[in-house]
Amino acid sequence: MRIGLIAMSGIRAADPELMALGLTLPGVVERSRVVASMPSLSLLTLAALTPPEHELAYHEIDDLRSAGELPGGFDVVAISTFTAQVADAYRVADHYRAQGAIVVMGGLHVTRLPDEAAAHATTVIVGEGELTWADFIRDAAAGRAAARYAPPAGTYFDLASAPIPRYDLLDIHRYNRLTVQTSRGCPHRCDFCASSILLTPGYAVKPVENVIAEIRRIRELRPGAFIEFADDNSFATRGHYKRLLRALADEGVRWFTEADVSIADDPELLDLLRESGCRQVLIGLESPTPAGTGGIELRRNFKQLRQPDYAAAVRAIQGRGITVNGCFILGLDGDDESVFDAIHDFIDRTDLFEAQLTVLTPFPGTPLYDRLLAEGRILEPAPGTSARCST
Ligand code: SF4
Repeated sequence: MRIGLIAMSGIRAADPELMALGLTLPGVVERSRVVASMPSLSLLTLAALTPPEHELAYHEIDDLRSAGELPGGFDVVAISTFTAQVADAYRVADHYRAQGAIVVMGGLHVTRLPDEAAAHATTVIVGEGELTWADFIRDAAAGRAAARYAPPAGTYFDLASAPIPRYDLLDIHRYNRLTVQTSRGCPHRCDFCASSILLTPGYAVKPVENVIAEIRRIRELRPGAFIEFADDNSFATRGHYKRLLRALADEGVRWFTEADVSIADDPELLDLLRESGCRQVLIGLESPTPAGTGGIELRRNFKQLRQPDYAAAVRAIQGRGITVNGCFILGLDGDDESVFDAIHDFIDRTDLFEAQLTVLTPFPGTPLYDRLLAEGRILEPAPGTSARCST
């Protein structure tokens, strides 16, 4: 079979006025370059799990202007997407289905709203795609692809079995950063979080040797590449990550990852971060206020518990020469309009290197979505959700 791997890359704004006003700001332009310059790790991983008799081609869609520009001639088209890109992804799926291709979709959004996706895709993959991709490919080649593939309940992918993603499918020199996943999941549960905690309830790490092998493969193809760990929260298992950081120190890489504020409690970890080439950590601070952080982490109110330590943590990390990208959410229930000044003041006081501000967004499948739906605060519920089924 000829298989097209289609990644919905780039930054999108549904509102033309917002596009004109906001997306030309220098910080947004810079961040969008970084985001747009990262390939879809999930598709490259599925490519590595595809038997060699099939032909693979990887494409990115930065800006879908015309379906006529899409590459053609595929028997199977696999589309990876997130909620923000899903409308475009469905248009791409409709286009390929009309051409007679088997269209398969997966990922976080599709896992949470499989019926919505089924209106556009021939096949929907629910959950971690690594667990069912081989079955899908076998069935598609035999002309009997099922409408839905899902792993048995309670089955999760063992990252020790993860293959090296097919980085060789990329036109690798057009990417500023290449991604490597070292863990999946997060020990916390923030009500708004639409990351890998929606796919796997625990916290799983990839063995050190596998991570190093992936980094070496990237650097074989692109010497000097900057590495971004595609993790939601690195370092949750300290012993494992200290072993990884010691191994990384010998590789001479520069890298970025996402973590929580607790890394600042561990001076040895901070030293290892610096020695291993870490350039920046992104931390979800969410709000500089006790009220804003209250109740958003559902297991033990982690964000509010740690909010008093935020300033010291930023100083400790940045004091090692590692910049912090602090993320704040505007619109949290505990905050009011004074949060704008509070964030400004926090950045001033701490010399936070970079700040990322987003508006609280209830993604389908999150506890936040269900809560706002139940409270009648979602004006246009996603298809397949209703106030009655909210928790
Ligand atoms: S700490 Fe980050 S990754 Fe973990 S649940 Fe909260 S938002 Fe998600």
